[in-house]
Amino acid sequence: MNITLHDCKNLFSTYRHYGDLDVEINRVATDTRKPMEKALFIPIVGERFNGHDYLKEAIHQGAVAALWQKDIPIPKFIPTLFPMILVDDTTKATQQLASYLLEKQKPIVVGVTGSNGKTTTKDLLDAVLSEKYTTHKTVGNFNNHLGLPFTVLNMPKECNCIILEMGMDKFGEIQLLSEIAKPDFAIITNIGESHIENLGSREGIAKAKLEITEGLKENGLLIVDGDEPLLRNAYAGETIYCGYKQGNTYELMVKKTDERGISFTCNHQEYIIPMLGEHNVKNTSLVIALADKLGLSREDIQRGLNKVKVTAMRLQVLPGKNGSLIINDAYNASPTSMKAAVQTLKQLKDYDRKIAVLGDMYELGHDEENLHRSVAEVIEPPVTDVFTVGEKGRWIASELMDKSKNINIVHFPTKEEAIEELNKTLSPQTVILFKASRGLKLETLAEVFVKEE
Ligand code: ATP
Ligand code: MG
Repeated sequence: MNITLHDCKNLFSTYRHYGDLDVEINRVATDTRKPMEKALFIPIVGERFNGHDYLKEAIHQGAVAALWQKDIPIPKFIPTLFPMILVDDTTKATQQLASYLLEKQKPIVVGVTGSNGKTTTKDLLDAVLSEKYTTHKTVGNFNNHLGLPFTVLNMPKECNCIILEMGMDKFGEIQLLSEIAKPDFAIITNIGESHIENLGSREGIAKAKLEITEGLKENGLLIVDGDEPLLRNAYAGETIYCGYKQGNTYELMVKKTDERGISFTCNHQEYIIPMLGEHNVKNTSLVIALADKLGLSREDIQRGLNKVKVTAMRLQVLPGKNGSLIINDAYNASPTSMKAAVQTLKQLKDYDRKIAVLGDMYELGHDEENLHRSVAEVIEPPVTDVFTVGEKGRWIASELMDKSKNINIVHFPTKEEAIEELNKTLSPQTVILFKASRGLKLETLAEVFVKEE
């Protein structure tokens, strides 16, 4: 890593103890359950834990220096030669240190926000941009006011392109993350409904996501879902629009969907992704737009896309029992993503029986009933069956029954009750989609029908 204790001392100006500032640090760590060897230990004051209580363990496990919040008494046991840099607030210091490192190392910074598709887009970006750059990216979903700076601080010295996921649940959070990272490129994947209870409306959600432009570098570029009216002309600087509608900077058209993935055109150039879901085509188009700007060729981009791995439980295609096909999308759900998953189910060729197993969606606020009912808009043949699960899932079934669309609709109060009915449907002509909020753990139902190895 590219940070030294001299950097820390210069940045925070306070320094206690008389240790060796030349001691090499090879990681920044906050959690003593994670590797700590040669680490700069940064204790964070959290809601439930105070990292300052763990200094002894950190030193024992190999930490070679620490930041320390000034108002907390320094324990007596610390070796006199242990370098400690005192700061006003360790959380803020972590963020400042991350900004400093980005300015020092100067990688290309890409920030990714949006209601859905951040992690997917970040992983796609990494697969493609690593064809040309030495990349580093947010691990998993480590996308908040601490996850982002720690991602930055653990960027290897060779990294010249960093891809940062930016998450939020209220106003101001994306602004903070963007101001820490100062992206060269900012991406907004879409505007959905998640966290609408904090943000008031879809307009509010769009405004919160657009905070990503607050820290965008001068001459930075914004790349957005161009099919979302709330993102049209919402930023005064250079903006690229990607999507299916006409008039986008990058126009998309899906050519073919099967269990191996989707082929599509993006501004008349052909690409294939080893993933399902038209939303993933859109996520990919944001990546293509950025890669194009950075001078990667179509061939470079396709080579990168071939390496993408689908994360478990996200439109994950699995062989089912009796030759059926299972699509496990049980990681999470919002109305937007549930509709998108149903659209994918509709497009799968070669299956006569298309079953959507749909469960509760949580955190939708006071309008939750209507938002569940809205999913019915996209449910129509070739979907043949809809099985709903859970208290809230029932609203989807009830809306469909009111509309009688020539679809078999059954509601099951619990997952267990759906097993018998689903068992009867399994055949090589059957594909079953499983989709619900995380809390329902619908994957436990999907797993019942996955072919055993
Ligand atoms: P989180 O807020 O949990 O970090 P995220 O924004 O990182 O979520 P992903 O984990 O990439 O999102 O995807 C979650 C789900 O959102 C996917 O399984 C898919 O159903 C849906 N999704 C992904 N991309 C889009 C998109 N562009 N538009 C609508 N839905 C999408
Ligand atoms: Mg994520």
